[in-house]
Amino acid sequence: MSGAAPPLFGRVALIGLGLIGASMAWAMRRDNVAREIAGYARSADTRAAAGRLGFLDTVCDSAADAARGADVVVLCVPVGAMEAVAAEIAPALSPGAIVTDVGSVKAAVIAAVAPHLPEGAAFVPAHPLAGTEQSGPEAGFATLFDNRWCILTPTPASPRRAVDKIADLWRRCGANVEEMTPQHHDLVLAVTSHTPHLIAYTMVGVADDMAQVTESEVIKYSAAGFRDFTRIAASDPTMWRDVFLTNREATLEILGRFTEELFALQRAIRMGDGEMLFDYFTRTRAIRRGILEAGQDTAAPDFGRARGLGDAVGGGGE
Ligand code: NAP
Repeated sequence: MSGAAPPLFGRVALIGLGLIGASMAWAMRRDNVAREIAGYARSADTRAAAGRLGFLDTVCDSAADAARGADVVVLCVPVGAMEAVAAEIAPALSPGAIVTDVGSVKAAVIAAVAPHLPEGAAFVPAHPLAGTEQSGPEAGFATLFDNRWCILTPTPASPRRAVDKIADLWRRCGANVEEMTPQHHDLVLAVTSHTPHLIAYTMVGVADDMAQVTESEVIKYSAAGFRDFTRIAASDPTMWRDVFLTNREATLEILGRFTEELFALQRAIRMGDGEMLFDYFTRTRAIRRGILEAGQDTAAPDFGRARGLGDAVGGGGE
């Protein structure tokens, strides 16, 4: 991060002021990325919270008001709300404005947003791979994106100058930037984020269904593995519903492969094939080492989180 670097933009507008929108505002303030940060969220409660918390310079009464005069408009709403927001801001966009987003799915967001934008506005789809299972404006914090990846998925219509500016924005927010196609992004994220979330939801659902394991036992004996599942399964229901509805094909493809592997392991357990299990777990252990070597997690036991109920920040989400 550059500390004393001059602002990249005049006005940046954030539409959606939850975990990601608020964290972007804090991160942009930390590094003086914009002269003015404006924002809008759907509910008066969230707008009031944003005013109270102080991460915006201007709290607006509509998405169009926030977008008017902005050099960059960042859509930080759930994937399923992107199209309506794009339609609402389109008439208010200045010529040359850059529209970007933070949605967890890319091909569907591009299909929903791009047709609404006027000629002269650039669209640079993006996805920061950082999050927690918490949501809302209070959940935001300035360091969320530090040393995390932000993936840009430019379309053939995205001007290079605009792509480079959004890359700079994310670097100034602490992230490392990579580019890939929207389709490849959706497949990669189906493997690394979307399917794991579905598995966590399922595992917690199974525990909840098992009458002989009472709720108090689930809480009392929740060892690291199950505790991590419950943390992930506490993620925002709206966001994750939208992810599965819009990244359907890639998620179903990975789930199919997952089911096949699960059957193979199930068979090894049934047949007492210890060698197969040992080899499989040895291979997967190496993947964890790779993540640590890449600086994407800490080697501290229990993923470095303090024990207790307040241990959420730093995991979950994406
Ligand atoms: P969040 O904390 O639930 O915040 C969502 C925000 O969007 C809220 O301010 C909400 O307003 C607003 N909103 C919802 N529908 C709207 C609409 N129709 N018009 C205007 N505002 C609307 O969610 P988040 O975690 O920040 O996620 C935002 C986006 O980031 C999603 O697309 C998600 O896929 C992506 N993302 C999330 C993570 C993660 O781990 N959480 C990581 C990377 C990317 P109200 O508060 O008034 O309801």
